[in-house]
Amino acid sequence: MSLKIEEKISLAPLTSWLVGGVADFFCLPTSVGELKEALKFADAKSLPITVLGGGSNVLISDLGIRGLTIGLKNFRDLKAAEVDGQLEIRCLSGASKSDLLRVFLKYQLEPALFLAGIPGDVGGGIVMNAGVAENFKPREFCEIVAEFEVLKPDFSEKKYSNKDVQWSYRHSRGWEPGIITWVTLRWPLHKDPSILEKVRSANKGRLSKQPLDMPSCGSVFINPPGHKAAQLIDSCGLKGFSIGGAQVSMKHANFIVNTGSATAEQLWSVIQHVKQTVAREKNVELTTEVVLLGDWPKD
Ligand SMILES: Cc1cc2nc3c(=O)[nH]c(=O)nc-3n(C[C@H](O)[C@H](O)[C@H](O)COP(=O)(O)OP(=O)(O)OC[C@H]3O[C@@H](n4cnc5c(N)ncnc54)[C@H](O)[C@@H]3O)c2cc1C
Repeated sequence: MSLKIEEKISLAPLTSWLVGGVADFFCLPTSVGELKEALKFADAKSLPITVLGGGSNVLISDLGIRGLTIGLKNFRDLKAAEVDGQLEIRCLSGASKSDLLRVFLKYQLEPALFLAGIPGDVGGGIVMNAGVAENFKPREFCEIVAEFEVLKPDFSEKKYSNKDVQWSYRHSRGWEPGIITWVTLRWPLHKDPSILEKVRSANKGRLSKQPLDMPSCGSVFINPPGHKAAQLIDSCGLKGFSIGGAQVSMKHANFIVNTGSATAEQLWSVIQHVKQTVAREKNVELTTEVVLLGDWPKD
């Protein structure tokens, strides 16, 4: 086996919240061949598998993750070409959104604008149908993905075209279970020479509204229909509410930040407190956008 599989690896540094325990087993495949080796290793030992992309939308338990965690930060080949009046990008799912951003900027194309606001990898972007609130065109992953391949738990590979997938607000369905491998993105080659200026101005706006200098996972809650989660939380007076090192951001109420020493349990307790308070005071049920990974105590 050429793939290195390590034991007891701390996962906190691989997440944007900088919290979480250790992975029993951990590997960083660089190719689909190595990814298959990882699946076979887990299969031989009957280990559960967890996939970690850019780690920017996950809350990993302080108790860590049992089984094999597959990190995708080295799974990132990317090629771009002009095909029939379109820019076609083919990449492995661990390519970062900033890798994509650089390519779209080079070709002066509009997807750069929404990508500039979202951390993490291409695979995580598909799983979460990541997107921005602004009325940009495009503004969500489902608009730029043409097709992708999935390595299934039985080691088979299956291709999904955009229309095979059920895309919704911060979700994609119909391709699971499995690990997204190769992704093809396409966008018409209609240049916008002012795109770099637009990206800079959008970044400036974001910096003024979001606590980007503190560890977070971005927005914790999905906007409920007809509401903005941040406004609901703010109007309950929850900005600044904290448990240990986990705090509802003073700058943006839908961000919960790690002020330095937060544990996953403290972050989860703040999330629960916010949910309960908004349900009680506003009669609105908030749903988390962030994905829980690992061993969580049953309640
Ligand atoms: C400061 C900040 C700002 C943010 N702003 C936005 C925003 O504006 N809009 C937005 O939509 N999101 C935003 N986010 C959240 C996050 O960046 C996105 O949801 C992002 O798409 C997650 O990608 P990731 O690679 O980090 O996924 P991860 O957090 O690593 O994983 C998310 C889920 O996808 C699964 N997964 C990841 N890769 C694969 C794969 N290849 N195959 C199968 N499953 C996989 C994981 O198991 C997990 O369940 C923000 C986060 C931060 C920290």
